Amino acid sequence: MELNTRLDKPLIAKSRREEICHIFGEYYDPERWNDWRWQMRHRLTKLEHFQPLLQLTPAEERGLEKARDKFAVAVTPHFAELIEPDNPLCPIRLQVVPREEELVTSPGDMIDPCGEDDDSVVPGLIHRYPDRVLLLALDSCAAYCRYCTRSRLVSQGEMYPLTRRIDAMIAYLQEHTEVRDVLISGGDPLLMSDEVLDKLLGRLRAIEHIEFVRIGSRVPSFLPQRITPQLAAVLRKHRVWLSLHFCHGRELTPEVAKACDLLADGGIPLGSQTVLLKGVNDSENALKNLFHGLLKLRVRPYYLYQCDPVAGTAHLRTSVRTGIDLISKLRGHTTGYAVPTYVMDAPGGGGKVPILPETLLAYENGKTTVRNWEGKLYTYIDPVELG
Ligand code: SF4
Repeated sequence: MELNTRLDKPLIAKSRREEICHIFGEYYDPERWNDWRWQMRHRLTKLEHFQPLLQLTPAEERGLEKARDKFAVAVTPHFAELIEPDNPLCPIRLQVVPREEELVTSPGDMIDPCGEDDDSVVPGLIHRYPDRVLLLALDSCAAYCRYCTRSRLVSQGEMYPLTRRIDAMIAYLQEHTEVRDVLISGGDPLLMSDEVLDKLLGRLRAIEHIEFVRIGSRVPSFLPQRITPQLAAVLRKHRVWLSLHFCHGRELTPEVAKACDLLADGGIPLGSQTVLLKGVNDSENALKNLFHGLLKLRVRPYYLYQCDPVAGTAHLRTSVRTGIDLISKLRGHTTGYAVPTYVMDAPGGGGKVPILPETLLAYENGKTTVRNWEGKLYTYIDPVELG
């Protein structure tokens, strides 16, 4: 039976969830809240949605009025509930609520910082490294990260639907026997229906030389309700690895824990990528909380990304020095599994480059001098060739 959740009298909201539902003229109903399609239909996308919920700063108001013409704004009710209403520096808020600084272009800013467009071989297929391709499945996400490296494509409505591009992509992959690894990204591939995803994965899996299929997704953070037993079964059937995206420990809610459990129990290997962001996670504590929390959910922190120099993101980026200092404070000071590799996507299409704290001090005449996590020096002597 369809529940009547429309408001027929003024609601005095008691909880954050009620306040969010109230914006759309509805009562809070737990069943609907837990339905991912309801979450998608009730995303906060414009100034009028945010005004009743947050004490907006003038910079945010202008961002919501103007920056959304450049890059869409959307926040799922689930993620919106995590935002502190009266703290403009809330680490959740900084990730998804635009500010007018997005309209400012700074030195070094680029539209396509990873140079992906130059390596596009057929529409939606990027072939840069010899054995790997990036397949852009769709151009929408559950919510939009203000630092998105693909904001030139994502949400812009310019990408043809997958059905019109898939045959050319599959033909290219069949022909290129050197490709063994496909990363499906976007946009967020987990927004596709189970049926469409199943078909796409089936066609990829039918190509013999493709050994490894990954999906990059922020859905478990923005929209954990999407992770259903049926979806986990599709991913398991096609032996998919998932690269998730989390930026702050507060994202690891009970709903997210449940979603990760479903995936991990379903045998889906889980890794996480984090973008280093000013005010969000640029402290030792914030990163430790996040990485330790992920391990508890059986998600391996995999990459910590230096934020790409996307036009209009200078206010969210830290210096590389900050990143090096932070990773030095983690390496050796906590579980190795909790320390991701700090990487930069070399601007202009140079690919991923690991940035390592200076641990190798000298390598000469078969002697290696290294510095450990306490700053002490040690020497390793290469083996002498016998016989
Ligand atoms: S989820 Fe990924 S693709 Fe989507 S807006 Fe965020 S960074 Fe961009």
